Amino acid sequence: MRYHKAGDRYVVRLETGEDVVQAVTAFASDRRIDAASVSGIGSITDATLGYFDRAAREYKKHGVPGDSEIVSLLGNLSLKEGQPFAHIHVTLAGPDFRAVAGHLFDGKVAATCELVVEPLPGLLQRKKDARLGLFLLDV
Ligand code: ZN
Repeated sequence: MRYHKAGDRYVVRLETGEDVVQAVTAFASDRRIDAASVSGIGSITDATLGYFDRAAREYKKHGVPGDSEIVSLLGNLSLKEGQPFAHIHVTLAGPDFRAVAGHLFDGKVAATCELVVEPLPGLLQRKKDARLGLFLLDV
């Protein structure tokens, strides 16, 4: 991972083989970023996406084997049970140029992943919502 501070924001370049969610979480942890907006583009290999099934109160997972373009990556950083937590969604496209999208669980950077992390003032925390069984932003 390499990064450049641009004003209050960070431009971050993840390297081939880094897990996207883990790298973003580690970046937040190392810089003690408790709240941020995250956006990016790049490419990813063997991604696992999720779709939250409200009735089942769980994520249905979907593997996307091989390399995909990260057409769009959007997310945020907050604290969940006191630890940095990256909530990231992606739209991916493979060699057929068809898009698939969802909550990003994991996947390793293919060629590169270029992110902008914009820290937000204050603290964002998550609290478990008993009805959904999800940790929602406590705002
Ligand atoms: Zn999500």
